[in-house]
Amino acid sequence: MDCLFCKIVAGDVPAEVLHTTERTVAFRDVDPQAPTHVLVVPREHFANAAELAAGDPEASAELVRTAAAVAAAEGHPDDYRLVLNTGAGAGQTVFHTHLHVLAGRELAWPPG
Ligand code: AMP
Repeated sequence: MDCLFCKIVAGDVPAEVLHTTERTVAFRDVDPQAPTHVLVVPREHFANAAELAAGDPEASAELVRTAAAVAAAEGHPDDYRLVLNTGAGAGQTVFHTHLHVLAGRELAWPPG
């Protein structure tokens, strides 16, 4: 399977990796939308968040725990946004589950 984030997990495509756990890898987004913009992905390939939750609930929970640890390490333990775009119509462009961690600026609601 030709999956960009599987290649980052494998170390075949370079990324600025910040944090790893047994089931997850966190790396900086190449096109940051906030001072902190990190993607947390499961090591195993699942196309979206619902498939991850159904296929590996523990990895799903670990994704959120890793995101919280990353936000805290970046100096934003209390104020950050987690985003899971699901489907092209909702803005998903990479079909390997990834949790966006955004922090470090005012984040408007509703999102665009
Ligand atoms: P989404 O639109 O929710 O699927 O998010 C995909 C994200 O992956 C976007 O924010 C991109 O900027 C980011 N991205 C694409 N290629 C890379 C890469 N090689 N390394 C890090 N982030 C990437």
